[in-house]
Amino acid sequence: MKKTVLVILAAIAVMGISELKAQTKIIAHRGAFKNTLVPENSIASLKASKDLNLWGSEYDVHLTKDDILVVNHDDDFYGIDIATSTYQELLAKKHPNGENIPTLEAYIKTGLKLKKLKLILELKTNKLGLARTLEAAEKTVALVKQLKAEKVTEYIAFSYDACKKIHELAPKAKIAYLNGDIAPDQIKKDGLTGIDYHLDVFVKNPTWLKEAQDLKLTTNVWTVNKETDMKSFIDQKIDYITTNEPELLKTLLKK
Ligand code: MG
Repeated sequence: MKKTVLVILAAIAVMGISELKAQTKIIAHRGAFKNTLVPENSIASLKASKDLNLWGSEYDVHLTKDDILVVNHDDDFYGIDIATSTYQELLAKKHPNGENIPTLEAYIKTGLKLKKLKLILELKTNKLGLARTLEAAEKTVALVKQLKAEKVTEYIAFSYDACKKIHELAPKAKIAYLNGDIAPDQIKKDGLTGIDYHLDVFVKNPTWLKEAQDLKLTTNVWTVNKETDMKSFIDQKIDYITTNEPELLKTLLKK
């Protein structure tokens, strides 16, 4: 009798662990900003991701005119164009919570203190052209290395050339492509490690998620904010969901 109980308990434990491994993980899009009422891509939004105990926090990286990597979504920071301005010029504006535009260095240093939080670094395409985007890729990889943040950093980018450049510079790094126009087998051939596509791309290409899973690529979908969409991707065992509503996704994954 006792033995039977132990066997059942062991089976439950094993099932629990394997299920845990397969469970979809949450990435806060631009940090956990929406319901926490802090600015997106601010240091506060990064800390809020940790407070929610999320798996990862996504953020966007641009290069200034004077070669400083900064964290912001749009090409401009409250009206000041990033690619053609110096870092000093960007300090003329602040986030509503009083923060300056974060440097990538400050962002990663904060992230490293938030143990176990993955830093999902989106390298933005530079408006001045491909050469400048590739320069930004080089500087970004060098800084991640310098700060010893390789283990907690995963890269994403819309520029396929930038993805390939990062792979060349950091062959062990996890790199997922964002633009949704390249099939999983090509991603695999080019040495990238995952796809991170808009939810419409998975609808338009219904075989791609399974193909990517079979190729052992990581699978990530953005930006999923509705409960029905979240449930659909959880059912398809996608690895990551990138969302503005991490709190909602958390409640669904607990069920
Ligand atoms: Mg982004």
